[in-house]
This record gives sequence, C-alpha cells and structure tokens, in this order.
Amino acid sequence: MSASSHASTFAPPIAPDGRPSLIGLDRSELEATLGTLGLPAFRARQVWHWLYHRGVTSFEAMTTLAKPVREQLAERFSIERPAVTRDQASVDGTRKWLIKMNDGQEVEAVHIPETDRGALCVSSQVGCTLTCRFCHTGTQPLVRNLGPDEILSQILTARDALGEWPAPGTNPNNVTSMLTNIVMMGMGEPLYNYDNVAKALRIAMDGDGVAISKRRITLSTSGVVPMMRQCGAELGVNLAVSLHAVTDAIRDELMPINRAYPIRELMQACRDYPGATNARRITFEYVMLKGVNDSLADANALVRLLSGIPAKVNLIPFNPWPGSSFECSSRTQIERFAQVLLAAGYASPVREPRGRDILAACGQLRSDSLRQKKIRAEAAPETAAATS
Ligand code: SAH
Ligand code: SF4
Repeated sequence: MSASSHASTFAPPIAPDGRPSLIGLDRSELEATLGTLGLPAFRARQVWHWLYHRGVTSFEAMTTLAKPVREQLAERFSIERPAVTRDQASVDGTRKWLIKMNDGQEVEAVHIPETDRGALCVSSQVGCTLTCRFCHTGTQPLVRNLGPDEILSQILTARDALGEWPAPGTNPNNVTSMLTNIVMMGMGEPLYNYDNVAKALRIAMDGDGVAISKRRITLSTSGVVPMMRQCGAELGVNLAVSLHAVTDAIRDELMPINRAYPIRELMQACRDYPGATNARRITFEYVMLKGVNDSLADANALVRLLSGIPAKVNLIPFNPWPGSSFECSSRTQIERFAQVLLAAGYASPVREPRGRDILAACGQLRSDSLRQKKIRAEAAPETAAATS
C-alpha cells in the first residue's frame, strides 16, 4: 500500500438495506446530498446538529424537522450505527467494543476512563499492513482501510454506550464527559489511511457536534514520514511516534517500515512537524522489550536522538498476546531507563497497561471474531470450518 490514502472522492457509504448513509459526509457533502431532495442548506445544518450534537440514530427523533421531511429522509437515507457484536469491560474500567462493519469485517475501539475524563482509542484500519513484530494487530491477515463513516462511528458508538449525548434543553458544557480525548492508536496505521482519518477527525472536531478540539486528539504513527507534515499542517492534532528502537539495525528488525523511512529521516520529520512546541510536544512511544531495546546505552542514545525536538517519552511495558515472542522488561530495568531520561530532562511516565484482562491494551487489538474462530478451529476443526 502506498503512503498516500486510497480514499475516493465523495461517495456516500451504503447501509445493508441499500440506502446511502449520511454519517461521515462533511458539511458541504451533506448539503449537496439533501439538496437532491430539494431541501435547503439550513436543513443540512439541522440534520448535522441532530447527528453529531444530539447523536440521534433515527430521523423520527429530529423533531425540528416537519414530519413529511423526516419521512422523506428516512425513505432515502440511513443514519444507523454499525452493530456492536461484543462489549467487554475490564476490572479497571476499560471498555472494549467489537464493531461489525457492513461487509462483516470487525474492528475494536477501546475506552480508557480516568477520574474526570477519558480517552477513546480509535482504529483506522481493519488489521494493519505493517507487521511490527511485537504487535498483535500486525498478525491479522485481512486488512482494509476504514471509511470516514466507520472511523466516526466508533466515536458515536462510544458516546451511545457511555450515555453522553446532551439531552435536549441541557447545556452540554455542564455535562461531565468521560470521552474527552481521542487517540488514533487502535488497529491500523492512520497515516496509511490519511484522507479518511482526516475527514472523520474534522467532523469530530466540528464545534456544533462532537466538538473534541485538536488539542485533545493524538494521532500515533509508526513513522510514515511523507505524510507527517501534511497531517500537522492540515489537522494540527498532537503527534505520537512509535519509535521503539534507537538504531536502524534493531528498528529494521522490530518495525519493517524503518527500512523505508529510517530513524534519521523520521527524526527530521519530527523536527519539521508543524505545531510542535514546548507546550505541545511530540510523544515518543517506546515499548520496553527485555534484552532487545532496554539497556541504559539505549536510554542514552534515545536522549541524543531527541535533542532539539520538543519531546516527551512514553515508556510502554510490552503487552504480551497469545503467541508473542517477546518478554516485557523488568520493572527495575524500566525504572532505570526512565531515570536516564529524567536526568536529561524528560519526565517519562511509564504507561500503565489498561484493560489487559480483555486484551484491550496497546498492541493487543486484533479482531476478536478471528480469535474466536481460531480457538474454535483448534477445539473442533470440523465444526469450526463449517461455521466460519
Ligand atoms: N499504527 C500506529 C498506531 C497503533 S499502535 C503506531 O504503530 O503507532 C499503538 C501503539 O501501541 C504503538 O506505539 C505501538 O507500537 C504500540 N504497541 C504495539 N504492540 C504493542 C504491545 N504488544 N505492547 C505494547 N505496546 C504495543
Ligand atoms: Fe501496525 Fe502500529 Fe501494530 Fe505496527 S504497531 S503493526 S504500525 S498497528
């Protein structure tokens, strides 16, 4: 797959019953689409408000529209959500939804609550074309880009499940939200599906809607250098870079993308990232793999690499998954590594793994239905083959 996205020009997604969906159209597309029914621009603005500010899932609920207009819309268009096929809650409050798209493919979205806020980890692709050796998503055989509607639907679905759409007449600013941040850190490489990710995020950022500001959105990339500048210039979201190694030899082994865009080019793209300042630093993610990338020499080399970049470091304990071939560094080694960074002025929080018990932690996402089929196949080959 090339670095640029394969997103097509405006073609509304189609619901299973054949009606085109209005979800994921930008404002001008929505206006043009409703215009085909002779509806004026202000109707599009009303529908937008109902879809993204109130979160309704039926035209019937759009009470500021005359009944015949609602009926006309329902006949022609769909605004349904994709089906949630599994809803799991971790002992630590993390929640994971398996969402089935119209072609039967499934993706995962994960909500990570804090005391008074929460982040939604959103997927950009079914699986991932990259095959980072420590990542479960990279082992999923089926891969495709998600459409803007499918990316956005994860956010809408989470809001449904968390019950966070403002009720009519209430001031949404007074509602405490547990979905305050979005992290593009789910399944897939978001910069390999840039156009669709950008479209979905622009809708999520729109003030009359989900209204999550770019300052509360972080996009994580494995290092798709040619797309980084465009992402910063056009979306202005926070950037996270999955670095994970300080030499090309090790990074080539861990992350095949390094062979196309080696560390030197990646660090230059970080220096050039529009909008990176000391107030808005680039996050460098570093997964701690025992005996692979966790020596104190590695920590010192990391400090040298970061010089001149407004950076913070997130040390991620490796999250094992069934069949993975790495071990997580010891707690003491992670702390020693963090100390070196701290001495150089980088506070580097160790990211506590959340939702490990439901395989919802970083790098553990992989369509559950595939896992289930595999488990069934191992248990009873004939039955599983017949049902898959
Ligand atoms: N494709 C993007 C975003 C999704 S992965 C990227 O690679 O940045 C989100 C983060 O989880 C990345 O930093 C990734 O390297 C990390 N990760 C992958 N597998 C992991 C694992 N098993 N344990 C801990 N972190 C992992
Ligand atoms: Fe893809 Fe990111 Fe996993 Fe690498 S770490 S395989 S880029 S999802």
